[in-house]
Amino acid sequence: MANPSLLILPGDGIGPEVMAEVRRVIDWFGANKGLTFDVSEDLVGGASYDKHGTPLTDAAMAKAQEVDAVLLGAVGGPKYDDLDFSVKPERGLLRLRKEMDLFSNLRPAQCFDALADFSSLKHDIVAGLDIMIVRELTSGVYFGEPRGIHKEGNERVGINTQRYTESEIARVSRSAFELARKRSNKVCSMEKANVMESGVLWRDVVQEIHDAEYPDVELSHMYADNGAMQLVRAPKQFDVIVTDNLFGDILSDCAAMLTGSLGMLPSASLGLPMANGRPKALYEPVHGSAPDITGQGKANPIACILSFAMALRYSFDEGDNADLLEGAVQQVLADGARTADLMGPEGGTPISTTEMGDAILAA
Ligand code: ATP
Ligand code: MG
Repeated sequence: MANPSLLILPGDGIGPEVMAEVRRVIDWFGANKGLTFDVSEDLVGGASYDKHGTPLTDAAMAKAQEVDAVLLGAVGGPKYDDLDFSVKPERGLLRLRKEMDLFSNLRPAQCFDALADFSSLKHDIVAGLDIMIVRELTSGVYFGEPRGIHKEGNERVGINTQRYTESEIARVSRSAFELARKRSNKVCSMEKANVMESGVLWRDVVQEIHDAEYPDVELSHMYADNGAMQLVRAPKQFDVIVTDNLFGDILSDCAAMLTGSLGMLPSASLGLPMANGRPKALYEPVHGSAPDITGQGKANPIACILSFAMALRYSFDEGDNADLLEGAVQQVLADGARTADLMGPEGGTPISTTEMGDAILAA
């Protein structure tokens, strides 16, 4: 059988720096676990704009559609701030998401014990925390029509429309239920069915999909505002949370800060299954291009490395190897390895991007 294929898009800023460490991890799995990937690399974002005048070429887009999974570093930076909207670095990422139809955005909020004191919450509330937010990514109020700013009488009116079809809700809820079966078999769906029609439909469809296809999964519903409160009050009550694009945007940032640094947070964006049964998939750290630390060897590669661990788990059915990699991260943190972003108020000497990579490979 052919090796699984990966397209690596390092992108801009610290993207290439953290991706270099991921490449070493990929090579390690080839050398030590017989897990060999066909890896190709291309440009995205400002790096692509500089060379080709577009943030993503048609050739790179076509490659992304063919491979088993895409790994992306980060896009953007101050150098590109004044570019026309149509060629901004972020447009490269948006095109990937849209053309691959990546409707299910997975953002784990996992607390590594060694970093529990980084949380904005008390140690006991977050120690051992492991939740997964599934955010609908391709529809809802960010895309609904009509939208725009127009004049009504003598004042301006700004309009966005929250619109969800039954099939859009069904497919993202299936993705959440599938995930739950691999975890603690528990899903909480969040909306505002008390004040929004789309919320009423959301609740109904999630319940229907549950009853027809996933009756074994424990399902609860919660209003999103209460969900936000519960997330910062007692986050360990949740396993998988499924919610729409807008609420997911807010709730996943909120959950992220329960666990510490941006430099630690991975994500996956999944679409429909391809002919080989694997979902269309793009994995990327939550953080951006971090222009303030680019080129200084300060970037924390863990978010990007954990994104590759998600690829092992969700694209390649390599759960044991994903556990191994996540365990190595846990281990080096417990041993005290800290990049600059992980230095507490007590200070100390931070290690570099490459030294963190070294430590994880050794573990
Ligand atoms: P974007 O618009 O691309 O999301 P942003 O400005 O919101 O960018 P980041 O680029 O993620 O956010 O940077 C926010 C802050 O976090 C910066 O100070 C940056 O240096 C820091 N940061 C982000 N990622 C990392 C990382 N991997 N390691 C260390 N520090 C990081
Ligand atoms: Mg940002």
